Amino acid sequence: KKNIVAIVGRPNVGKSTLFNRLARKRKAIVNDMPGVTRDRIYHKIKLPDGKVANLVDTGGLEPTTDDYILSQMKTQTLKGIEEADVIVMMVDGFAGLTAMDEEVADVLRKSGKPVIVAVNKVDLKGAKDNIVDFYSLGFEHYTAISSEHGTGIDELLELVSQYL
Ligand code: GDP
Ligand code: MG
Repeated sequence: KKNIVAIVGRPNVGKSTLFNRLARKRKAIVNDMPGVTRDRIYHKIKLPDGKVANLVDTGGLEPTTDDYILSQMKTQTLKGIEEADVIVMMVDGFAGLTAMDEEVADVLRKSGKPVIVAVNKVDLKGAKDNIVDFYSLGFEHYTAISSEHGTGIDELLELVSQYL
């Protein structure tokens, strides 16, 4: 078992920010422009409980205009999902639930992999109030984080660890 943890989500939710925080170096490109990560980037990390995890920062989705469709989900992202032992689906708590999140969730549900929903950006005002809206995605775990400030990361890693 390769202990692969794929970080998946629509553009701009903070996937690369989380990846970089966990990798403790700036490997992934963080950018305000959606869809900037071009390829899968891997980094091996040690979890607080000592287990080793291979993190994958999936690029997310092709940059598109308004007409986002599933067929535009990058092959790299799908590969990342396929090889994962557990998936961290990241969403933006400040923005709230979007149609794109629901489409990402559909793909993840079909993969049959364990999914942990990480509601990011809870440092922003009002973001915490939106968390319950994500429950409709129907996954087993939800946890609030701030990739930028580092809050909630240990709880997230604890959830991740039980699948490795
Ligand atoms: P990605 O497209 O999902 O990889 O998202 P990025 O990691 O590139 O982040 C997109 C934007 O969200 C950047 O401007 C980040 O600085 C910002 N961001 C990421 N995480 C947080 C967070 O926890 N809180 C806040 N306030 N901003 C964040
Ligand atoms: Mg990125």
